[in-house]
Amino acid sequence: MSDRTASALENVVVIDHPVIQTKLTELRDYRSEHQKFRELLNEVAGLMVYEVTRDWPTKPKPIQTPMERMTGRVLARQVTLVPILRAGLGMSEGVLKLIPEARIGHLGVYRDEKTLEPVSYYHKFPPDIAATEVLLIDPMLATGGSGAAAVSFLKKAGVASMKFVCLVAAPEGIAAFHRLHPDVPIYCAAIDRELNNKGYILPGLGDAGDRLFGT
Ligand code: URA
Repeated sequence: MSDRTASALENVVVIDHPVIQTKLTELRDYRSEHQKFRELLNEVAGLMVYEVTRDWPTKPKPIQTPMERMTGRVLARQVTLVPILRAGLGMSEGVLKLIPEARIGHLGVYRDEKTLEPVSYYHKFPPDIAATEVLLIDPMLATGGSGAAAVSFLKKAGVASMKFVCLVAAPEGIAAFHRLHPDVPIYCAAIDRELNNKGYILPGLGDAGDRLFGT
């Protein structure tokens, strides 16, 4: 792993590639309206895929080039994307551009506004999800409540290999997530300063779902 992707926190990878940082800065800017926000979110998610998938196993695949036979390499396992509803949907298209064969499982968990505790209201996964590489995606790791709840669901479904991919993480969210699931790596483009008393990340980018969908 290069210096640009190292993190002082165990099992946390900050992908601070200059192109990703440039797009993240534009995303954070309050002047970026929903169409721009949507485009940028998908672009950053796609760019992050290179680093996130770097250690995935490959298997040999014999092919014929126009010149001769050779054995290439392809991903060894099927891939399932699990966007956490609803803001996670805003990263799906970007990831699918790089891994178009991936299947999608949906997971709805939300934070109770008063208790900030996660509540699950919907999940639908591919039947063989346990045998696949899973990317759990959500732009914001804030309190860590919904991310950790999502991982618990996926573990119950038998998933053994998964990574959590977000854009912006709060230190409190990383700590809460890894207190419950230290085995699941977190990939992000930035670790921000702190959460405010409403559970929003500072400086953050505001409500990712509202900015994405124009609500
Ligand atoms: N969810 C968001 O969309 N933004 C935050 O800052 C925290 C949680």
